[in-house]
Amino acid sequence: MHQTNLIKPLLGANYPVIDYGKGIYLYDNEGKEYLDASSGAITANIGHGVKEIIDAMLEQAKRVSFVYRSQFTSDAAEKLAQKIAELTIGDLNWCFFVNSGSEATETAMKIAIQHWQEKGIHTKQKVLSRWMSYHGITLGALSMSGHTGRRARFIPLLEDFPVIHPPYCYRCPYNLEASNCGHVCAQELDTVIKRIGANQIAAFIAEPIIGASGGAITPPKGYYKVIKEICEKNDILFIADEVMTGFGRTGAMLACEHWDIEPDIVALGKGMGAGYAPIAAALVSERVMKPILAGSKIVMSGHTLSANPQSCAVALAVLEYLEKNEIIKEVDKKSVYLIEKLEKLQDNFPFIGDIRGKGLMIGLEFVKDREEKTPFPRELQLTQKLIQLAQNCGLLIYPAGAGIDGINGDSVLIAPPLTITIPEIDELIKRLQVTFQLFS
Ligand code: PLP
Repeated sequence: MHQTNLIKPLLGANYPVIDYGKGIYLYDNEGKEYLDASSGAITANIGHGVKEIIDAMLEQAKRVSFVYRSQFTSDAAEKLAQKIAELTIGDLNWCFFVNSGSEATETAMKIAIQHWQEKGIHTKQKVLSRWMSYHGITLGALSMSGHTGRRARFIPLLEDFPVIHPPYCYRCPYNLEASNCGHVCAQELDTVIKRIGANQIAAFIAEPIIGASGGAITPPKGYYKVIKEICEKNDILFIADEVMTGFGRTGAMLACEHWDIEPDIVALGKGMGAGYAPIAAALVSERVMKPILAGSKIVMSGHTLSANPQSCAVALAVLEYLEKNEIIKEVDKKSVYLIEKLEKLQDNFPFIGDIRGKGLMIGLEFVKDREEKTPFPRELQLTQKLIQLAQNCGLLIYPAGAGIDGINGDSVLIAPPLTITIPEIDELIKRLQVTFQLFS
């Protein structure tokens, strides 16, 4: 049959057709079972087929599925905005709903620039970012992304936003020890700001834990304090891209809580609708909104489907489900257990070079030689092979950008739904072990 669905990443490849999902498992139409240890793309945070979410969708669909945001608001959108403000740190009291993580980071960028314009400062237009980062696929979001592979085709259309190294301790660009490094890679931001001029820069954006382009790269203690101080000193807003880390993924509502920092703007997505509906958001603090509220009173962004009641009802139901079942509180315990099991695997499989991350966002980096940390040659396409092998073994794991910047090795993310149980983690590890045995 001629295939017309263009959205599949590898055109012409045979993708299994999923029939249904239940909890952490997906089942294809030939009856094969997959343990979803990647939550899709770190999205299905509460697993598949949750009755409470399905009921909320049905209820909202019966009332109204769509109203246009410049004409109406809805109960679902208002309650969701209120709930998010209550559950997040600081004064992130303003919520701008969109439909994808890319739209959320791009909206965050636009709000940051608008903030300065409304204050009468029109030179602050640049948004700085880090290499080995991913903030989305639309042009503004891609401009901010330090993902060389995804940028390559569109370079002439992109602004040159990535400027500093990531806090990639496993392969520290300065060859320093994380415990005693003086956060040189964070201090770089200060140098770059001096070169460009603070009066040109609206904001700095970073993923608290780098996901898709590095495999849960987690900064050392104190890193974000330095970043935040540099931003504040230079009147530069700090945007936390929590599209992957937000909504409990790392064991806190926002990953920024782990380092006790309050971002000026936050981008949310993925786990917000947990895969049941497309929804994302830019959360904005009171101090960022103040000049906009006193000025134009309009945020110059938005999409036709922004804040549609159907998606808002889903996200609200997801938050209520997380709260009612105390799911975020349990993440830490599950994380400790998962890491312990992964470390045992590491004893048997020398190609596991590094295990890192927080909560249920764990990265594994693979190396040819553990002592030397030598990456496998790119031509081997190790990540793709491992992922395929795992899928054959009924296990889904997530690729995390091998060879970005030409420095990192192959890495994958293990990020099951937060609702995974301890026996299910054992099953995940069993399938991972079989995958690694077949690979070695
Ligand atoms: N920001 C981060 C940190 C992401 O991981 C992603 C997607 O992987 C995005 C933004 C873009 O989100 P979306 O794919 O929903 O546009």
